[in-house]
Amino acid sequence: MADFSLSLNEDQLQLKEWVHGFAKDVMRPAAEEWDEREEFPWPIVQEAAKIGLYGMDFMANGIADPTGLTMCIAIEELFWGDAGIGLSLMGSGLAAAAIAANGTFEQLAEWVPQCYGDADKVQIGALCASEPDAGSDVGGYRTRAVYDQAKDEWVLNGTKAWITNGGIADIHVVVAVVEPGIGSRGHASFVVPPNTPGLSQGQKYKKHGIRASHTSEVVLEDVRIPGRCLLGSKERLDAKIAKAKENQSSGEKQPAMATFEATRPTVGAMAVGIARAAYEYALEYAKEREAFGEPIIMKQGVAFKLADMATEIDASRLLVWRAAWMAANKVPFVQGEGSMSKLKASEVAVKVTEDAIQILGGYGYTREYPVERWHRDSKIMTIFEGTSEIQRLVIIRSASGIRVP
Ligand SMILES: Cc1cc2nc3c(=O)[nH]c(=O)nc-3n(C[C@H](O)[C@H](O)[C@H](O)COP(=O)(O)OP(=O)(O)OC[C@H]3O[C@@H](n4cnc5c(N)ncnc54)[C@H](O)[C@@H]3O)c2cc1C
Repeated sequence: MADFSLSLNEDQLQLKEWVHGFAKDVMRPAAEEWDEREEFPWPIVQEAAKIGLYGMDFMANGIADPTGLTMCIAIEELFWGDAGIGLSLMGSGLAAAAIAANGTFEQLAEWVPQCYGDADKVQIGALCASEPDAGSDVGGYRTRAVYDQAKDEWVLNGTKAWITNGGIADIHVVVAVVEPGIGSRGHASFVVPPNTPGLSQGQKYKKHGIRASHTSEVVLEDVRIPGRCLLGSKERLDAKIAKAKENQSSGEKQPAMATFEATRPTVGAMAVGIARAAYEYALEYAKEREAFGEPIIMKQGVAFKLADMATEIDASRLLVWRAAWMAANKVPFVQGEGSMSKLKASEVAVKVTEDAIQILGGYGYTREYPVERWHRDSKIMTIFEGTSEIQRLVIIRSASGIRVP
């Protein structure tokens, strides 16, 4: 087990500087344009792939770090650069995480590289879990997967909602109901390979923030995929369902939950990046902007706000790093530590970006300054990969041992 340390090693410091350079020189100057265009920023992702900042190796290096901090450091810098573009760079990671959490080693080796492609042909992945009528309530999914034994194929039907990279991805990982009537214990995850007939993009959402990230419905109409596209094995799935029907626990996590538990600290790191961007901007502004004959930072009302922003960002980062270290070292989240990190960091990001607007006054409310964009971007952090309310449920259930409904 790696020691928990707050001092970054030489490799981590170098990575931080390198990613920061890309965030500052490439992402920041492009952020406003892609926010307005509301499109997936292919040229920026291609540029990232060329320098090795987008791709399978980049993710694998991050995940291999025994301290667990490498990914958090990189993500914080990317989201400091821009959250919409940052999510376009990180969105494929959700599909890859779902494959890693639910698939066999062979499936991981086959499908994860296809979630990224290479510098010459960039590919992207999407994780399709949420549905129009079921987001937090994962037991309410309706998308069906039916096994056609004669052809050893699965047939998927249904509609997925709010999918990052949905419909434009090369690899879609779909969570579907195999056995109705036993809630999420009857779910399984499937890889839909590139260009599979029957999978199409539904409506593309027009969003409040992270507008450079593509979010769409994914429609599945008689999508036929080979039997090997079921993540994990058919035998394991059958055994899990048989146990669920006898009301016994198989000890396995529900597929969407297995993915989100692993990725929650990384969402916390995204939120820390946005919050830090807004704090740094507001701090510099407060030193320059004068009111009543002196810089506004000389007013305690402003200075204390900045002090609180700095403190809350640091507290968030500590929770994120702890959870990431625990996840990397397979230390169980007995108090809901992963959820704590996501809850705290996301709510801090919303508050800090709002306070940054306040410190910039009228200028902060205009699109001439980036803080209003950061505020819009921050809000999603309290919604996706489990809302703040769901994180609180996880935390109190873990802490109390009571299944608070
Ligand atoms: C931009 C964006 C990108 C996304 N990307 C993806 C993606 O790539 N893949 C994917 O699968 N999904 C994705 N999502 C979906 C996201 O995870 C869901 O929106 C989220 O889980 C909430 O589900 P919901 O929208 O259905 O809200 P609901 O579940 O309907 O919740 C509505 C409100 O009720 C509250 N609530 C619900 N249940 C409880 C409860 N038991 N106790 C207390 N309060 C409760 C919620 O906290 C929330 O405030 C994305 C969403 C957005 C907006």
